[in-house]
Amino acid sequence: MEYHFIRQEISGDRVLFVLSLDKKSGKERILIGSETAIIKRLWNDPNAMVYYDEIHPIGTLFINKRPGGTDWTDSGFMPLWEALHTSRWKQPDLEQAAADFCSNMYQSGDPFAIYTAIRLWDGYLRAREPRDRERAAELFKIDLMGLISPLEKYLPEQLLDSSITDTIRQSGDEMKMDVWYPARTGIECVIAYRSFLPVIMYYHARLADWSLYFRTCKVCGRVFLAKSQKYTMCSDKCHQKMKTQAKRDFDARAIENEYDHIYKNEAQRWVHYIRRMEKSADCSSECVSEVRLAYEDFKKEAKIRKNAVRSGQSTVA
Ligand SMILES: [Zn+2]
Repeated sequence: MEYHFIRQEISGDRVLFVLSLDKKSGKERILIGSETAIIKRLWNDPNAMVYYDEIHPIGTLFINKRPGGTDWTDSGFMPLWEALHTSRWKQPDLEQAAADFCSNMYQSGDPFAIYTAIRLWDGYLRAREPRDRERAAELFKIDLMGLISPLEKYLPEQLLDSSITDTIRQSGDEMKMDVWYPARTGIECVIAYRSFLPVIMYYHARLADWSLYFRTCKVCGRVFLAKSQKYTMCSDKCHQKMKTQAKRDFDARAIENEYDHIYKNEAQRWVHYIRRMEKSADCSSECVSEVRLAYEDFKKEAKIRKNAVRSGQSTVA
């Protein structure tokens, strides 16, 4: 079921963000919809209308790119906040601006963004209803800022680090986690409504229980979940790539060492030669300094060649 960012009748049900993790299959399932519809969906009722129901490998929620950045307040919330405080004829433009932003976020496919977009719009529609619109607007603000501020405050990379749980704990935000066992499903779910922080905490707690860690592959840069913090590569393919590169580096070093060896012998010969000349009565001091200059030239050229060998532009031969 698609959500439309237009003026529409508000439903009696709250829209929830529900996460369920399955260790056995290694999957995460995320549902967005009303409580009733989500329960029906978990009972495999094909007619249950939810906005989002997808199953992905564990970790996907954090690994996938998250849109929106720090635009939520300025482009999503503020136009609606202003619309609640302005005259009737100024409202359509403000609503349109927010609706465009929310639609973009909704289309992004990111569950955090989809849920926040729906809640923003739904919250606005609810705030338009009461007679005391000032107060409704304040409640709308309190309601939505809990969702928006963590999205703006924490970078996606930060959420991958398990130390985010300490940061959140120390942030002073209240943490109330709704764990839900819908009847006849045998599934453990956790619900986000006012904030994603409890879901983030829950997710990291489960990963820690199952000894799974987010790592960044040092070969391809992809983020992946590993069974140990020692893992540094995401796949056999990257392992192979690393091995090939290591062999190449080793060969290059061998060539460099060989060149160093030749250079040292040669330099030593020069030094001996100069010393012999200095001691010899047959050589004039001009003659010695000429040879010294030639030695300096040799060193200069050797340096250039050494750099060429190091950068792989030349071999020893
Ligand atoms: Zn990789």
